Amino acid sequence: MSAGRRVVIVGAGQGGFQTAACLRQEGFAGSILMIGDEPGLPYQRPPLSKAYLKEGDAARLELRPRAFYERLGIELGMPNAALEIDRQNQTLHTADGARHPYDSLVLATGSACFRPPVPGAGLPGICELRSLKDADRLREALKTARRIVVIGGGFIGLEFASVALQAGHAVTLVEALPRLMARAVSASLSSAFARFHQASGLTLRLSESVTEITAGAQGGYCVALGSDQIECDLVLMATGVRPNVSLAASAGLVIENGVSAGRTLQTSDPQIFALGDCASFPDPFTGRRVRLESVQAAVDHARLIAKNIAKQEASVYGALPWFWSDQGGWKLQIAGLSLPGDDEVLIERDGRPLSVFRFRSGRFVALETVNGPSEHMAARKILQAPVSLSRKDLEERDFDLKGLAQTLAKGG
Ligand SMILES: Cc1cc2nc3c(=O)[nH]c(=O)nc-3n(C[C@H](O)[C@H](O)[C@H](O)COP(=O)(O)OP(=O)(O)OC[C@H]3O[C@@H](n4cnc5c(N)ncnc54)[C@H](O)[C@@H]3O)c2cc1C
Repeated sequence: MSAGRRVVIVGAGQGGFQTAACLRQEGFAGSILMIGDEPGLPYQRPPLSKAYLKEGDAARLELRPRAFYERLGIELGMPNAALEIDRQNQTLHTADGARHPYDSLVLATGSACFRPPVPGAGLPGICELRSLKDADRLREALKTARRIVVIGGGFIGLEFASVALQAGHAVTLVEALPRLMARAVSASLSSAFARFHQASGLTLRLSESVTEITAGAQGGYCVALGSDQIECDLVLMATGVRPNVSLAASAGLVIENGVSAGRTLQTSDPQIFALGDCASFPDPFTGRRVRLESVQAAVDHARLIAKNIAKQEASVYGALPWFWSDQGGWKLQIAGLSLPGDDEVLIERDGRPLSVFRFRSGRFVALETVNGPSEHMAARKILQAPVSLSRKDLEERDFDLKGLAQTLAKGG
């Protein structure tokens, strides 16, 4: 019986929204309150570095219209920041002075951009990209900027750089590591993307670190890479994020690269769950504690948490991680989670990179594809199935994942 129970969700982003929606899908009849510190309705972030930069249509970002929340009886408390969790009295304190009692509390506080300790990184006007407000500032800056420096060669830096190049800007991207997206993809795909972006006009400075940013003589900025200087009108810091854990930490919850959640996504306090960007959890596929910054993780975490709260169950998390990134006409998709040191086999068709198979101890663990959505979906099916494929198995089948997925579906 859930009618008299109260769920409070902190963070009205991807995972907060999904938890509220799934609670109702699971038949939860108690009260649901979502507290978020951003104005407006919950929205999706992925388009902020892609279509939104070109179109600027904020209404299309909203995850659901206001009527959805009204119809499902989901109370929206925005904008309002959660300040303190009184665990003893199971009450959340918010910035407006209110006290919100809860039976279950869900922490969906996401992450915040990280600025490396480089002199000048905090100069006024230097951009970052996390929120709708950040994207609006960038869109405005793009109207007058000609020369752009992007610091950081991960997904967001590269997606933004692609959009800026397509719009005719001169873009230099600086990455301290020797290859692009090094945390996320194989060396083969890093190289393929580097060649692709350079062919589109990107000036790439790999293995180089920004040592200082100063204000330029005629406005704009001067980005120093040691003795080398790059003059520009706009700087985007795309140097990663850090999980928002201060609320959880000050309540005494265990923090391990994020709010530490167990297999049921409960934190060190069983009444409190954590999800998405702010949470680390035991990943059954790698056997490691991981923290993932992806829509998939936020959504699948939310589904499990909603089920566990609504049905008062202790089901265990087991969703396969998957990711995507859109960069200038190349759609990168990753099924599964690879680790540094995993073997890689690049399959090229017609001279273009199509897919990279990743193997750990000879076992197929992840697939990276470029513009290969059906292979990606086949890999997701196979990696979630109770079968273990070796490199030899795949070689014998000419790496035909679609054929294999069909065979599996027929019970072969
Ligand atoms: C520009 C950009 C592009 C992206 N592209 C992709 C992509 O292509 N594919 C992909 O899989 N993922 C992508 N991501 C990542 C994806 O959007 C995140 O992983 C996802 O939003 C995480 O969901 P979440 O609920 O954990 O956090 P969020 O969606 O970030 O929501 C957290 C919310 O909590 C609020 N909050 C924090 N602290 C408090 C507090 N104390 N009180 C109240 N509210 C609080 C925050 O302000 C925020 O609104 C992208 C992210 C960005 C920024």
